[in-house]
Amino acid sequence: MGSNVGDSLETLVQAVCLLERKGIHICKVSGIYVTEPIGYVEQDDFLNMAVQGETALDPQALLERCQEIESALGRVRKIHGGPRTIDIDILLFGQTRIREDRLVIPHPKMGERAFVLVPLREIAPEIFERLQFSIPPQRVGLKYSCADVTMRLQSCGLSFLC
Ligand code: AMP
Repeated sequence: MGSNVGDSLETLVQAVCLLERKGIHICKVSGIYVTEPIGYVEQDDFLNMAVQGETALDPQALLERCQEIESALGRVRKIHGGPRTIDIDILLFGQTRIREDRLVIPHPKMGERAFVLVPLREIAPEIFERLQFSIPPQRVGLKYSCADVTMRLQSCGLSFLC
């Protein structure tokens, strides 16, 4: 998940709470990282994080929930790849592979993005190892630790071992 418009920390916390409320049981959260924009570079740095969850939803229904949350949090994006309130992408869904117009899993760009791989490595080092990606040389700095994020998530009843 990423955000670079508005109160990005609060938006990411709200997004995690909403995922839990919409049938995705959140098992792990990464810290929150400050990351440089990739592609369209004339914009502010992003805050990014990754979460791991369990769900009975199928991948298409999960994508719908993610998009509902993006709308609920007032996603605004005028330029493709440009500034946005919230972006929620599905990176992996177990071992499932999907190639549809609206949904591609594993996420096709994940291997090119340090802002994805660094939080992913934090929450799922064994999956990261298996994928055999090397992290591109892009600026990614930890801003809020998993413990910081967990403290903020207590407001919606979530707690994690970091
Ligand atoms: P973006 O907002 O730039 O991340 O792109 C959103 C579009 O990507 C949506 O319309 C989705 O249908 C599509 N999409 C394809 N695969 C995925 C994925 N794994 N996770 C999230 N969106 C996806």
